[in-house]
Amino acid sequence: VTDATLIDGKAIANEVVEEIGQQVRELVAAGQPIPGLAVVLVGEDPASQVYVRNKLLKCQQAGIVSREYRLPVETMESDLLGLLVDLNDDPDVHGILVQLPLPKHIDEQKVLQAIAPEKDVDGFHPENLGRLLVGAPDALVPCTPLGCLIMLRRTLGDALAGKHVVVVGRSNIVGKPAALLALQQHCTVTMVHSRSENIEALCRQADVLIVAVGRPELVRADWVKPGAVVLDVGINRVERDGKAKLVGDVAFDEVAPIASAITPVPGGVGPMTIACLLRNTLQAYQRQQR
Ligand code: NDP
Repeated sequence: VTDATLIDGKAIANEVVEEIGQQVRELVAAGQPIPGLAVVLVGEDPASQVYVRNKLLKCQQAGIVSREYRLPVETMESDLLGLLVDLNDDPDVHGILVQLPLPKHIDEQKVLQAIAPEKDVDGFHPENLGRLLVGAPDALVPCTPLGCLIMLRRTLGDALAGKHVVVVGRSNIVGKPAALLALQQHCTVTMVHSRSENIEALCRQADVLIVAVGRPELVRADWVKPGAVVLDVGINRVERDGKAKLVGDVAFDEVAPIASAITPVPGGVGPMTIACLLRNTLQAYQRQQR
């Protein structure tokens, strides 16, 4: 794989974090309050703990004050909702993020809907998803698809318009918003999922393939049109040669030689997701200062 084909999400993310940091420094120098993010983690899921740690570290790097709320796995839904009421009312908190997945006894939709839409930096509140649907400028857009879009804009520029984008996966947090964003960019969009017929043939038509499934190396070389741009959202922990390893939903080694550009796992979509969280936090802050 040459440098030209590798979409270096880590490097792009560092640039975004740097930019946000600069803007935060200017705000603070001008006497404005410091942007604040509250991160709520319920339970001890090891992957979630890593994600939360990385998010908090990046906040620090950008000068955003972050507060972590770690709640035990047996936390009652009503207690979590109570915490969200407090955070919604707290003027020092401009962004609120509840790390998913939540324990089974807690209703995820109920919790996401309890976050004030203007503080909903994950963009999972139906109000923000609705704003995204109608193309309202003040939508807080889910971080992972937003990161995908930024990478696509940097890779293809204005040539993104008119391209056939195939999104594999239809979750509310990745697949659906990724398709809406691509549509907004004037792409032709196809969504496929576990019930799709002829999924390989559909993927092979893609100029841009966005894969968010959660199945290690599902997408093989013969699913990909030569010259396609491939964004691999998947993060799968697998064991290879007795060692734990992270792999994407795309078989990188065989797809990279035929793609015109591809994101690696790790170091692709993951860091961009966190950079976009900071971007959303600053956007939420600016909206609340007005
Ligand atoms: P979900 O499990 O919510 O959704 C997975 C989607 O993939 C579903 O729509 C499902 O279809 C579809 N699917 C499952 N199996 C197949 C198959 N064999 N063929 C076609 N489609 C299939 O996952 P998420 O969207 O939350 O996450 C997807 C992946 O992205 C995971 O690996 C996750 O870890 C990763 N991720 C990475 C992030 C990052 O920052 N890089 C952030 C968020 C997620 P159906 O609807 O029919 O069940």
